[in-house]
Amino acid sequence: MPDTFDTAKRAFRDLRVSVTDRCNFRCTYCMPKETFGPDYQYLERTELLTFEEIARLVRLSKDLGVTKVRLTGGEPLLRKGIEGLVAQLRAIGDLDLTLTTNGSLLARKADALASAGLDRVTVSLDAVDDATFKAMNDVDYPVAKVLEGIEAAADAGLGPIKINAVIKRGVNGHAPLAMARHFKGSGHIVRFIEYMDVGSTNGWRLDDVISGQDIVAAINAELPLEPIKPNYIGEVASRWRYRDGSGEIGVITSVTAPFCGSCTRGRVSAQGMLYTCLFASSGHDLRQMMRGLASDAELSAAIASIWETRDDRYSDLRSEATSDLPKIEMSYIGG
Ligand code: SF4
Repeated sequence: MPDTFDTAKRAFRDLRVSVTDRCNFRCTYCMPKETFGPDYQYLERTELLTFEEIARLVRLSKDLGVTKVRLTGGEPLLRKGIEGLVAQLRAIGDLDLTLTTNGSLLARKADALASAGLDRVTVSLDAVDDATFKAMNDVDYPVAKVLEGIEAAADAGLGPIKINAVIKRGVNGHAPLAMARHFKGSGHIVRFIEYMDVGSTNGWRLDDVISGQDIVAAINAELPLEPIKPNYIGEVASRWRYRDGSGEIGVITSVTAPFCGSCTRGRVSAQGMLYTCLFASSGHDLRQMMRGLASDAELSAAIASIWETRDDRYSDLRSEATSDLPKIEMSYIGG
């Protein structure tokens, strides 16, 4: 399949598909309760892309060079019949099919997802002590249940499991060393994410960011690490291996060491808007085209043209001024 390149010669490789804007957690850096309260208006079912519409977009994107699809949300496992979507996407053919979840429903769903053809899961977990984790998910959800989900996913063959932890100064700055101790030797890979100015509701301040470098230094002081090469061009995490050979960690440094130059990711919201950057302020309505009976050729040409005119590199240009720009909520386009 011919590749599709943007204005910075970045290929269209990864498609992240949000399947719902709903979540059962209220993580303070993503979906703060103050904004996403009981009266918040979520998308109606009829506004969501159907599984058939998602499968169509994925099929056409694969023909444009996409090799990896990640299902996200909100919390994707809340979407009823998600296994059915996985099976439809699996039927499209050779794709790396992954999913990011908060793990709360994973113990129940892991086997069915694996049987439907899912390759791997990434689980969001921001601490291994209950007090901190409950404060961050803001719905009093215990660590033990997420760990149960991680083990169920591993047993179902959805590994190697990646565990994403957003690190915010003054909230879970202590978590990286505790999480490294907990998961070292488990085969699971913890990736520590610098706290980002995603969306417009998390009250982001640069002072609350702990750099990837400082996170690595904190772990290295007790558990010696060495850097290793990326698995592929465009991999978001910088990889570090334990010197004793007992596994690896990653750091995702969008704030202190941006990686826009190799960014190959497009994002589709649950409503069918295509965004070319996590920090976008606006998107392109593909649902309207699909429900307006656009042909495959027309839809494919539209997606290709959107990517070919893409020039996003928000993190390269980030400043205190840009952090106040109106941006799409992460819970809407899924990290
Ligand atoms: S800021 Fe935008 S362009 Fe840069 S790496 Fe993130 S998603 Fe890609």
